[in-house]
Amino acid sequence: MSTDPTPDFGSVDALQVPRASFEAQASALDADDPLAHHRSAFVGAETALVYFDGNSLGRPPRATADRLARFVTEEWGGRLIRGWDEQWMQLPFAIGDRIAALTLGAASGQTVIGDSTTVLLYKLLRAALDAQMNLDPQRVEIVVGRDDFPTDRYLVEGIAAERGARVVWVDVDTSRGVDADLLRAAVGDRTAVVLLSHVSYRSGYLADGAGLTRIAHDAGALVLWDLCHSAGSVPIELDAWGADLAVGCTYKYLNGGPGSPAFAYVAARHQHALTQPVQGWMGAADVFSMGPVYRPADGMRRFLSGTPPVLAMIAMQDTLDLLEEAGIDAVRAKSVALTEFAVRVADGILSPLGVTFASPRDAAERGGHVTLSHPAMRAVTARLWQGDVIPDYRDPHGLRIGLSPLSTSFAETLTGLRAVADAVRAES
Ligand SMILES: *Cc1c(COP(=O)(O)O)cnc(C)c1O
Repeated sequence: MSTDPTPDFGSVDALQVPRASFEAQASALDADDPLAHHRSAFVGAETALVYFDGNSLGRPPRATADRLARFVTEEWGGRLIRGWDEQWMQLPFAIGDRIAALTLGAASGQTVIGDSTTVLLYKLLRAALDAQMNLDPQRVEIVVGRDDFPTDRYLVEGIAAERGARVVWVDVDTSRGVDADLLRAAVGDRTAVVLLSHVSYRSGYLADGAGLTRIAHDAGALVLWDLCHSAGSVPIELDAWGADLAVGCTYKYLNGGPGSPAFAYVAARHQHALTQPVQGWMGAADVFSMGPVYRPADGMRRFLSGTPPVLAMIAMQDTLDLLEEAGIDAVRAKSVALTEFAVRVADGILSPLGVTFASPRDAAERGGHVTLSHPAMRAVTARLWQGDVIPDYRDPHGLRIGLSPLSTSFAETLTGLRAVADAVRAES
């Protein structure tokens, strides 16, 4: 990780300048941005298109086209089946360890690239619930937020039905997320597992990782963190939090490309005690002994099932290179500066049009995106897409402004928000 000091965006007086000169603020912030040069490392950054959806599908780094071509000709084409022995079998662990070191605050040997987020969440949630129910048959409750990402909620419902467990739904304000008070009220001596989003996909609410983990542990529960909307933009300290399990996307802030496989983290202390439900040969103790019965491998390999999706995990390495250069703390500092600027501009030009915030206003409680609310936002989004300004829409009435720190400039942010204002006017 970089040892560069965290850049001090607070020194930019631009935010004090009156709202007539948002343009001047944006130029000053871009000029002062120590990560500004990384933007040109991304395909399309030179065009006029405004991209507000790097939190859903990150832009590709330019280096990725070459990396993929080289993989096809040199590794796949040149090494053929030998590639598995030489490198590919280890790749899910090597990339996992890199993600762990650069973004998760996790020591090596606890993170692996596996299946999709959905499948990894299923495997870890099932493993954790089974372990808890075996230890104490009273612990049959899974706690999850009622406004969590659909896949998370659907998995919990399915697993509860499969295992005779019970779902405890935490009702939340949709412009926030599960916080300490809500979690404290939801857990108890029947709680087996708590599934939590570090950054809420809808509101951008940033949960207190250490605090919520402690609350769950005090109740005797295990915590599974969903890091999809934080990995690569918000510092995460899984080891320091005492987290048990985590899963996160690689095609969002890690720019791994559409459908790139997710990562799973299992704290070293739990690995031996957990058994995941999709027992395949790649998770077995001796993969090529082709033995008569399944015996799980030691360590993180037991959480794999089938042949690793090597081709699909190649691209994310370019963003890991960028993160290594920039450092996650500098990335977070820019992320905060970007969302603060977006809030300031929205207050200036969108609030007068009736647009409201559906995200925390305090940067300490906010991840890398802000959600703006207005009854016309569905139509506004369609209009913006036609004009090459690309946010996304989430019910009810939410326009998500995702500001991927390495690829987004302050000028781009301002241009996009002005286009939002024009579209709201046109659709109102
Ligand atoms: C993006 C996202 C997912 C996506 O899961 P996939 O299996 O990759 O489709 C899951 N959970 C959260 C919180 C997400 O933001």
